[in-house]
Amino acid sequence: MSRYWGMNIIINGSFVRTQFEDPLPTMGPPNVLEDYRANPQADRYEFVTQEVIRKIAGTQVGGPWIGSINSRAHQIVSILPLNERAIGETSTVAKDTAASARPGVGTGVFIWYDPFTWAGSAMKMSIDPQNHFKQDDVLFHEFVHALLMMHGLDFSTPIAGWHRVSELYAIMLTNIYNSSNNRNSDLRADHDLSFHVLPKSFLRPTEQQDDEFFYNNNQTDIDRLCGSSLQTLCNTLADVQCKWNPLGVRKRKAKHPSARAY
Ligand SMILES: [Zn+2]
Repeated sequence: MSRYWGMNIIINGSFVRTQFEDPLPTMGPPNVLEDYRANPQADRYEFVTQEVIRKIAGTQVGGPWIGSINSRAHQIVSILPLNERAIGETSTVAKDTAASARPGVGTGVFIWYDPFTWAGSAMKMSIDPQNHFKQDDVLFHEFVHALLMMHGLDFSTPIAGWHRVSELYAIMLTNIYNSSNNRNSDLRADHDLSFHVLPKSFLRPTEQQDDEFFYNNNQTDIDRLCGSSLQTLCNTLADVQCKWNPLGVRKRKAKHPSARAY
């Protein structure tokens, strides 16, 4: 059995991607092996993942984002389980890699995601002892990758601190998502698996880097996203009122260019 959310999102828990340590003795750290196993918890996985999507869909940022995923014709997002040991494999993978970076073409995707791992497991606490990551924002981050790939906007241009431009987008949009849910202490600074909180401002060291600073620093990449086939969605998200929204900063600057401050 699978569960669905709209036309394009399918949750299929039947097989779990499983990492485990090689039971054969070796010198040094044990080898980590991986296989796929029939999942005795498939029904529970599908139910809980669907509840996480329900939560995301009920938010100001997640609602329009999931709506855009479900309005993309003929491209499916399949959400599949990982065991706890495989937390580092949480990711979105294009079904067609070349098409994922071809604007206007795009591809369906697989999302590797396990809601139980992200709800206080030992592995999770080892990378995020302050408990910034939650079940919903982790899946929202993957939904950002999914929609970018579905539109052929998965830009892999390397960029300092973010690995690649599409991670800058995923982390920026997840920060807006968290801010709109009154989680301003859960804004992320980089693409490390370990959670780093967005650092203090250079100019005002007692304050966190604000959205205007972030926009000014990353204007070329943010403008590129906002001028893409996701333009309408970016415009909708720019109107979400919250403390940290670089898309809102961009929209205000476009209206009042004289107010630009660098
Ligand atoms: Zn990512």
